[in-house]
Amino acid sequence: MCSMVFKNEIIPPHDPVYRKIERVLWKLTNSNKKIFEDRAWSITVVDLPFPTAMVTPRGQIIVCSGIFKVVQNEDQLTFILAHEMSHVLLLHMIERYSYKVLMTAVFVIPLFLMWACHSSWKAILLYLETNFLYNVFLSLPYMRRKEMEADIVGLQLSARSCINLKEVLTFWKNMKKYLDLTGQSKYEMPTFLMTHPNIKSRMEELVRQMPKAVDLQNQVGCPNSSIIRAAEKFALN
Ligand SMILES: [Zn+2]
Repeated sequence: MCSMVFKNEIIPPHDPVYRKIERVLWKLTNSNKKIFEDRAWSITVVDLPFPTAMVTPRGQIIVCSGIFKVVQNEDQLTFILAHEMSHVLLLHMIERYSYKVLMTAVFVIPLFLMWACHSSWKAILLYLETNFLYNVFLSLPYMRRKEMEADIVGLQLSARSCINLKEVLTFWKNMKKYLDLTGQSKYEMPTFLMTHPNIKSRMEELVRQMPKAVDLQNQVGCPNSSIIRAAEKFALN
């Protein structure tokens, strides 16, 4: 999909950036073999300035090269990929589609009555209001919950890959700095209108999940240095 839209921006597999992502993905899949089983993953790297990544339900991980404005090392990159892979493992896209179908079914009769019982302009107004309330109270909180879930599972996958866990928090601090420096923070919408949780609450949840991640690193026998570094300091600042 993306490869068709951004055909000219695709970074080829021999490029060092692609190779770096491929190396991290290989390490991640190897350290989580039991969880991933025989699932196939592929990478598409697009030369676009946005610091973002996404994934398709079939496991195509799309990374914009702009992510390296924020990601400083392979440990941070591991978390980004693990977050995206978690969306697939947790069937988030399929679940979201089913949720939309269900909600459409729930709302179809009230919407029909709305159009049948009111004049056009009143029906349009009511429709917009209902749509807004649906987004604020159901759809957006649901999407934010799924993002948080992907962070939690992504942290566990990354932990098994023996990263320095502190780098996960550093990544979010970098992202915050980037948004501040580029002035994007000024235009940030209130949390209740966002599809993703705000950085502060993501970091708070990740800090809460750190003891579990440290335990995982102990269980899989990560080198001591990584465990000690992780256990020592998980601060938000
Ligand atoms: Zn996500």
